[in-house]
Amino acid sequence: MAIKFNILTLFPEMFPSMLGQSLAGRALERRDWAYKAINIRDFAQDIHKTVDDTPYGGGAGMVMRPDIIEAALLSVPKQGRKIYLSPRGKVLNQALAKELSTEDNITLLCGRYEGVDQRVLEAHEFEEISIGDYVLSGGEPAALILMDACIRLLPGVMGNEETADNESFGTNTGGLLEYPHYTRPAEWDSATGKTYEVPEVLKNGNHAKIEEWRKDQSLKITKALRPDLLEK
Ligand code: SAM
Repeated sequence: MAIKFNILTLFPEMFPSMLGQSLAGRALERRDWAYKAINIRDFAQDIHKTVDDTPYGGGAGMVMRPDIIEAALLSVPKQGRKIYLSPRGKVLNQALAKELSTEDNITLLCGRYEGVDQRVLEAHEFEEISIGDYVLSGGEPAALILMDACIRLLPGVMGNEETADNESFGTNTGGLLEYPHYTRPAEWDSATGKTYEVPEVLKNGNHAKIEEWRKDQSLKITKALRPDLLEK
């Protein structure tokens, strides 16, 4: 299944950035996903290519104009789900990423300055998604994160369809955090002077015991680091 992201931005050169590398990069070459970065400034109507103006009511900063954003949006033939990356939006989580990864078209609006004029969000019924409770300088890094979270869930991208379900927040993990991982060497002398060993249970090939240990670790780690996940 291919997914197309249309990105409305003042910085189209920020894409595909990290998504041109590794798993996402190979998936892009295979056309498992596609993107078009649309420069909002191309739709400005004056010789200075102005896209923003001062806020009504006063206050600091500039606001992106609704008419210019709308013109950029209307240039997209298949808009699909329209998302404004915004700190006040619903916080992105694995369930939402999974849901978005089933869409054919997603249009992402990246704000800059103080944000965008409210009316364009209302007129075109943008849903708002945040990547966390902090403020970025622009929506582009948030768009890249949302895209990455969706792309890796597309069939065939990770190689093994079960991988995502077994990860943190996955369905097989019961929405909890994942258990810890170990690889070679079995015994590792750290530069700190301490020697670390791989837990014995992982070396004896007893898959039932390993499974039990992993479940137990997953629960312990979630209790310690994210007790809120146990309340869901
Ligand atoms: N004045 C806005 C506020 O106080 O909520 C912040 C504007 S921010 C400097 C500029 C743009 O960055 C926003 O329009 C939004 O697109 C993006 N942005 C900032 N923080 C974000 C977050 N946590 N998640 C998603 N997008 C964010």
